[in-house]
Amino acid sequence: MSCSSSSGSEEDDEGFDSYRKGGYHAVRIGDQFSGGRYIAQRKLGWGQFSTVWLAYDTHTSNYVALKIQKSAQHFSQAALHEIELLQAAADGDPANTKCVVRLIDDFKHAGPNGQHLCMVLEFLGDSLLRLIKYNRYKAMELNKVREICKCILTGLDYLHRELGMIHSDLKPENILLCSTIDAAKDPIRSGLTPILEKPEGNQNGAATMNLIEKKLKRRARRAVAKISGRRVSIVGLSETPTKTVRSLDGIDMRCKVVDFGNACWADNKFAEEIQTRQYRAPEVILQSGYSFSVDMWSFACTAFELATGDMLFAPKDGNGYGEDEDHLALMMELLGKIPRKIATGGARSKDYFDRHGDLKRIRRLKYWPLDRLLTDKYKLPEAEAREFAEFLCPILAFEPEKRPTAQQCLQHPWLNLRAQNNEDQVEG
Ligand code: ATP
Ligand code: MG
Repeated sequence: MSCSSSSGSEEDDEGFDSYRKGGYHAVRIGDQFSGGRYIAQRKLGWGQFSTVWLAYDTHTSNYVALKIQKSAQHFSQAALHEIELLQAAADGDPANTKCVVRLIDDFKHAGPNGQHLCMVLEFLGDSLLRLIKYNRYKAMELNKVREICKCILTGLDYLHRELGMIHSDLKPENILLCSTIDAAKDPIRSGLTPILEKPEGNQNGAATMNLIEKKLKRRARRAVAKISGRRVSIVGLSETPTKTVRSLDGIDMRCKVVDFGNACWADNKFAEEIQTRQYRAPEVILQSGYSFSVDMWSFACTAFELATGDMLFAPKDGNGYGEDEDHLALMMELLGKIPRKIATGGARSKDYFDRHGDLKRIRRLKYWPLDRLLTDKYKLPEAEAREFAEFLCPILAFEPEKRPTAQQCLQHPWLNLRAQNNEDQVEG
């Protein structure tokens, strides 16, 4: 429930230091949970708070994602909070059409490291961050971006308007595709036979052994990379493999919002500093209070990243100024000057702005508006760039109350341009 940093789940593994009292629960394939109802199949991922396993639900004969929280009290409290919000989301959406991950069950599991709260979630596919990586950080076709945006906005509209909930950590990593990119990784599409019993020779310390093996493999990979890197520099750059563009055709772009560990009720917020750095809204940096529209800011950052492969804002600290001030400078270079009232109105405004509303340490800004950035740097055709910028810019308003709501965004013509194009094609 703390301010989220970039999760470690994209790193190789969760490290074995946290497999101790108060930490993760070591799981072996075939382990049973909740009186034998769920059987662990393989690890799907991990975060700062939990490991997540593919499990087989013997009651419904379905695959599910089993999120097993670390056991220390702080983590259990965070899990109880997450369960409360996920339960509310499930209760309000019986048909499961609102693009929010579904909580199926929850229970406690006692292990050698303590008692772990467990959440059973519907099994989903890869995160949008994995999709961006799979696409080799190249621009994604805008029609695909539109499909993804519709799902995220459907989820946000539901959370905001129907539930009164702020997600507070929206980013590509926390949006999962409904299906895996690689069909072989999907237990149903790949025709996997569920493992119902512990495999032979997997009785003790398998999780730890696995990590040691992985560590050794990683070291070996690094050593090989070092050697081949040297060779490339001798032979010359022409030896560097040129990777071809990957096709995303055939990948189901439907997706759902996940990770409610930082979510809160709009009328009961518990944290001032929310959101992962790059997706953080200006009012959060300035501490001038926030509401649903912080998620809209993160949404716009996410949509840009899908369309270009680059983060919209990637602030860094520099000579004489910090990350926050750089972040504000980047925002102003893209969106224009922050209105003085907004710039000077937050509890932390004095740290960054003088009384005229100018940054204290970063004086020279290079204005590069979004439509021009999209044409000049990302080579979007002018009309496409203008339409996309017209969709995004209002969501990136510095005044939070001027940002359109998710419901209003869903009505925006940009989201339906595809339908028009298709009709044109049919008519033509
Ligand atoms: P964080 O450090 O981001 O707060 P966390 O411990 O709260 O992490 P999650 O982000 O919910 O955990 O999940 C960790 C990882 O597990 C995800 O990045 C994803 O790879 C995988 N995962 C989570 N939920 C599902 C799901 N429903 N289906 C498939 N994989 C999932
Ligand atoms: Mg996460």
